[in-house]
Amino acid sequence: MKAAVLEQYDKLIVKDVPLPGCGDNDAIVKVKACAVCGSDIRIYHYGNDRVKLPAVMGHEIAGEVVEAGKNVTRVKTGDRVAVGADVPCGVCYWCTNGMGTNCAINYAIGYQFPGGFQEYMVLNETTLNYGPVTYIPDSMSYDEAAIAEPLACAVNGLELARFSIGKSMCIIGLGPIGCMMLELSRVYGASLVFAAQRSKKRLEMAKSFLPDARFISTEEEDLVQIVMDETGGEGVDLAITTAGSVKAHADAIAMVRHRGFVNLFGGLKNQPALELDSNLIHYKECFVMGSHGSLPRHHKIAVDSIHKGYIHAKKYISKIFPLSDIQAAFDYHESRQGFKVIVRPST
Ligand SMILES: [Zn+2]
Ligand SMILES: [Zn+2]
Repeated sequence: MKAAVLEQYDKLIVKDVPLPGCGDNDAIVKVKACAVCGSDIRIYHYGNDRVKLPAVMGHEIAGEVVEAGKNVTRVKTGDRVAVGADVPCGVCYWCTNGMGTNCAINYAIGYQFPGGFQEYMVLNETTLNYGPVTYIPDSMSYDEAAIAEPLACAVNGLELARFSIGKSMCIIGLGPIGCMMLELSRVYGASLVFAAQRSKKRLEMAKSFLPDARFISTEEEDLVQIVMDETGGEGVDLAITTAGSVKAHADAIAMVRHRGFVNLFGGLKNQPALELDSNLIHYKECFVMGSHGSLPRHHKIAVDSIHKGYIHAKKYISKIFPLSDIQAAFDYHESRQGFKVIVRPST
């Protein structure tokens, strides 16, 4: 079978590899769709502590179960499934207390476990016991189902920030996750939504996801000033940074309302530390928190939200490539022209 193997940084080779064997406690998935994530691109260039080369990346996955070991009860041959990224170990303090995104081992598909940029992949015992493996309805395409993984992270972000009906929010950064936040804000019943993005082009691309949001180009406008002016000087109940920049983090803390939440959703890479007047937090009694990844139950909610039409998964899919063109898929992702790029390892 074919697999896209990261042999060294910046070198992704599509080559023949042996079919994975299916142990008694494993299942094999024929991968139909695997979306490219910004974190795949970071691993491709810079690596990750949890990824040992050579490696097969890809963690936004959907496919068909084609084999299940004799002890496996979670899935069976012929099941259509979506597979997410974070796999709780199931036994550490965090996993046994429902906080598997902080798992002490922090397993993930496409990291320690081979990912979806290959024709067939193994769901091992830990993944089948505790991981994000979700059935998808017949009406949902594999391409749409692959989008469930990033959506699950967005759901986790709003849940941890205790977002609820009637609250206001500001989303800083309108990539795919920012646009998912726009759609989720409607599901959650947000009262007022500000949506900020530096480039005007991407701002325009985001508008159809929630036309009645207040869109702001940070290239041309003063985001914090606008949010404060248009909320009567109060600020928003939730400021969430889906763009990983120090400025976004600082702006979020500046615009959050008293007792509001700041979710530093987008991590920072190779950027200076945030300098902050902590009195801002002190006097606002605000909650500055972060979130990353998702739990299997978020993945299930995400699949369900796509199925119910809350999230228009198809709208996020800008281009589709066969596995043989994975390099073009990565290049397209990095060009930032579109939203999500799907790789189809098998048909
Ligand atoms: Zn991802
Ligand atoms: Zn754990």
